Amino acid sequence: MNDSEQRALEFAALQSLSYRRSGGRASSHARATARELRQLFDIGIPEQGREAAAVIEDLVRAAEPGLVGNVRPDFFAWVMGGSHPAGVAADWLTSSWGQNSAIYQCSPAAATAEEVAAKWLLDLMKLPEKSSVGFTTGATMASFIALAAARSEVLAKSGWDLELEGLNGAPTIKVFIGEEAHSAVWSALRLLGFGRSNYVTIGCDYQGRLRVDELAIRLEEHAGPKVIVCQAGHINSGAFDSFVEISELAAKHGAWTHVDGAFGLWANAVPHLTHLCAGVELADSWAVDGHKWLQVPYDSGFAIVKNADAHRRAMDITASYLNESEGDGRNPTHFVPELSRRARGFAVWAVIQALGRQGICEIVSRHCACAVRLSKILADEPGIEILNDVCLNQIALTIGSGMPAKDRDTIMAEFLSEIEKSHGPFLRSAKWKGQTIVRISIISPVTTMEHVEELARFILKAYRDVRSKHGSADPVCHSA
Ligand SMILES: *Cc1c(COP(=O)(O)O)cnc(C)c1O
Repeated sequence: MNDSEQRALEFAALQSLSYRRSGGRASSHARATARELRQLFDIGIPEQGREAAAVIEDLVRAAEPGLVGNVRPDFFAWVMGGSHPAGVAADWLTSSWGQNSAIYQCSPAAATAEEVAAKWLLDLMKLPEKSSVGFTTGATMASFIALAAARSEVLAKSGWDLELEGLNGAPTIKVFIGEEAHSAVWSALRLLGFGRSNYVTIGCDYQGRLRVDELAIRLEEHAGPKVIVCQAGHINSGAFDSFVEISELAAKHGAWTHVDGAFGLWANAVPHLTHLCAGVELADSWAVDGHKWLQVPYDSGFAIVKNADAHRRAMDITASYLNESEGDGRNPTHFVPELSRRARGFAVWAVIQALGRQGICEIVSRHCACAVRLSKILADEPGIEILNDVCLNQIALTIGSGMPAKDRDTIMAEFLSEIEKSHGPFLRSAKWKGQTIVRISIISPVTTMEHVEELARFILKAYRDVRSKHGSADPVCHSA
């Protein structure tokens, strides 16, 4: 390593420290426009290589105006974690060590860190201890992996050898899935060769939970291989499906049950919240994120499969040069699609150690308590409506309740623009059940009750400003 390379590493470490000490700089909003960022980054390909230290200085200069405040306490826009410093430090080492964690022999350390972290994850989330775990990029890929195992297994049970014969001519698998499943799951299914006519879309209740009565009827209508997709933690409401009843139906019909629990499955690590996940361990596979509630740096997700053989069969890679010996440990690549890959286990190992059981419980329960408090303050304001039963860390809020739809849209648009202009807490909107909502996710590890009360004041002020412009003291009465 030359002097400049050494300075590059030192500079990066100092920059990281200064960024985190400042709490993620002054605002959660990016300062620069797309055009400005393009100019900062597009400095041309140099003919000659440059000093590493100077390159890293340029990188910081270009990137900082375009950073968003995931590590700040006023980040509420999406369910995204805040990269715990212990995970960041482990990630620095992961890159410095330059390990390829494809198979055990490529990096015995990386393979063993994953093996042990996998065991801890199953323990923390109270999932069957013999399940296999693939360390992947996020919950989207985790669902992809788990559903690939599901596809192989339900076909095998129908007498079809997917690994031998492929999909051409295979029995049609019906996928029973709630109409409010996360977009990531639909994407994973599409990548696996499923299309709209293979889905049996099941209606959802007012919280986005799959209607079990409807599922029961629809399962009766189809013979042949079946997969049921349910969720732990609806993206807008935080709601959980009824896993006990769904698993009973799955058992009756020989269906595979997959749970998208990207963030919600962490409720199972918290003693007073496990009721939300009741029966979740009865499923066949689970997709969970490391980079959301667990606060592992991006990218980190876990594909967990009860039937480890099906998991391996779906993901297996063998090649003559991938030597495996008696006495080797676990080969990470057997549980994911990638061969060469980042040593994802180090950061997971480090974050679990740094937080401990109590730390994980504390973060999840604090966020849930913050959500309850925030929703109570906001629900007291006439014209603000909380659309979900706040059971987790998510709040779906709408304004102008009681007004005609047209006026509601107008006042919501103005409210959103008011929020955006202020460059205060970072919030984003979504569409849910035909309405525009403000979707508040309490997920940053540094967010406390105090920040949430500040957010309430901010929302109330923006709302009252917009409401007063419309000359109405109380839109609910006004519209009546
Ligand atoms: C975030 C999320 C996903 C997608 O996870 P990625 O890590 O972004 O791939 C899927 N389902 C739910 C419920 C989520 O919250």
